[in-house]
Amino acid sequence: DAKARGGALIGQFHDGLRSAVVYRADLERRLVGAVERGEILTHFQPILSLPDRRIVGFEALARWQQGSATLSPNEWIPIAESTGLINEIGEHVLRQAVQQLQRWLADGHQVTLSVNVSPRQLSSRRFADAVLGCLATGVPPGLIALEVTESLAVDEAASAILAGLRAEGVRIALDDFGTGYSALGAVSRLPVDVLKVDQSIVRRANDPQGRALLTSVLAIARSLGLTTVAEGVETPELEAALAELGCELVQGFLYSPAVDAETAAAMLV
Ligand code: C2E
Ligand code: MG
Ligand code: MG
Ligand code: MG
Repeated sequence: DAKARGGALIGQFHDGLRSAVVYRADLERRLVGAVERGEILTHFQPILSLPDRRIVGFEALARWQQGSATLSPNEWIPIAESTGLINEIGEHVLRQAVQQLQRWLADGHQVTLSVNVSPRQLSSRRFADAVLGCLATGVPPGLIALEVTESLAVDEAASAILAGLRAEGVRIALDDFGTGYSALGAVSRLPVDVLKVDQSIVRRANDPQGRALLTSVLAIARSLGLTTVAEGVETPELEAALAELGCELVQGFLYSPAVDAETAAAMLV
């Protein structure tokens, strides 16, 4: 009867919920010590200038190698953030990426490096000190960009830490611009040099409304003296629209996904 069916449904729901909780708990347990075990790898996605398609830099993107599987950051970065493991993981990625940048520079490649930073990593001085430690090894600060999201804009302390790093010459990029709230507010409140336009906007570059939105975003960026990077460029049609609208830099599967350091180096001529 209906009641029995209802009970069965609730049972299924409960089982589903429980397995999601168990799965998350399991991921959390396995993430502990992942850095020491060498499971956190740093991959690199090229950032290119338009219209010449020259590689001007790379964004470091963390990968978690679990046996033969690679877990997407969207699955485990939130866990790393809520447990605080992001501090250790973020520093590891930063060091690996900066070391790689130094090798590329030594080989005569003038490229920039972008590193993602979670809000949690800016709740103390720890990450900033790690960045300063990297700068002390002689890497030019202007070649390093820290990618932060708008959610940071509400936090004064985090904003002050970023401002301090910016005063050392490090560049600050506002990531995923156009998603979430107070997109424009963040630009005026945060110390920002680069605007990374989210792929949800970039994708729409060729429909009239999307194009109008993109046009205004690029105009605002230009008037504030910010460099613009379009994220998630997947087709030549999108590239053409972005070039026409004066977007300076692009990143996306049209050019390359994130690849290991060796593969990235092979893309530099
Ligand atoms: P994000 O910083 O916005 O990075 C861009 C994401 O878009 C990357 O996903 C990249 O692989 C993906 N992407 C690039 N081009 C395309 C495209 O043409 N089409 C599509 N559909 N996707 C594209 P990924 O590597 O899975 O990273 C997801 C998010 O995880 C990142 O978003 C970033 O917020 C976070 N993340 C990654 N590595 C780190 C890290 O080391 N530290 C922190 N705190 N967060 C990280
Ligand atoms: Mg990013
Ligand atoms: Mg992004
Ligand atoms: Mg993101």
